[in-house]
Amino acid sequence: MEKTLILVKPDAVKRGLVGKILDRFEQSGLKIVAMKMIWVDKDMAGKHYTTNEEFLVGMGNKTLKTYAEYGKDPLEVMGTKDPLEIGKMVRQWNLEFLTSGPVVAVILEGIHAVTIVRKIVGATLPTFSEPGSIRGMYSIDSPVLANDRKRAVRNMIHASGTVEEAKLEIELWFHKREIYDYHRADEDVMF
Ligand code: GDP
Repeated sequence: MEKTLILVKPDAVKRGLVGKILDRFEQSGLKIVAMKMIWVDKDMAGKHYTTNEEFLVGMGNKTLKTYAEYGKDPLEVMGTKDPLEIGKMVRQWNLEFLTSGPVVAVILEGIHAVTIVRKIVGATLPTFSEPGSIRGMYSIDSPVLANDRKRAVRNMIHASGTVEEAKLEIELWFHKREIYDYHRADEDVMF
């Protein structure tokens, strides 16, 4: 049994997709054990998006790879080829995005919840997310367009990447008293 955190990001909230998105998780057998709508400030968003340099370099390298694939010059668009600097820029865009409207924060519980949720959410970039995944179904945003406009890719959901990350993120977003333990009727049939 695992718990994991998802954030329905401001683009999905503003598009009225909260119900459809949560439905996907609930139907799979994952249980909502905590949920709230919250419009966070930059301070909170900054705690959510790590400043870990290794992570930022990784993010920068991913962005550089996208530029190479689409034949774009990162120097022209971003003003640098340094993966750390690019990673910091993408982080900044993420802070702006996450604070641009309310988000719905949810803790989902279930067997292998972290992995199952990432599968249902789909790959980070909508161009590569599987058609049946949430990102694949509801978004066609592209990193090339996003980088040109100096904003985060609008991919509707954040989901914890690992069990360790899930623990930290759950502690950041919820008090223990906001997390409930209850029995869902279909658990008897499914498990
Ligand atoms: P996730 O765990 O699947 O959300 O992916 P990451 O942790 O790698 O990235 C965090 C968020 O940054 C993503 O959900 C996107 O909104 C945004 N993002 C990721 N890669 C890029 C990129 O190359 N360009 C831009 N503009 N945004 C990106």
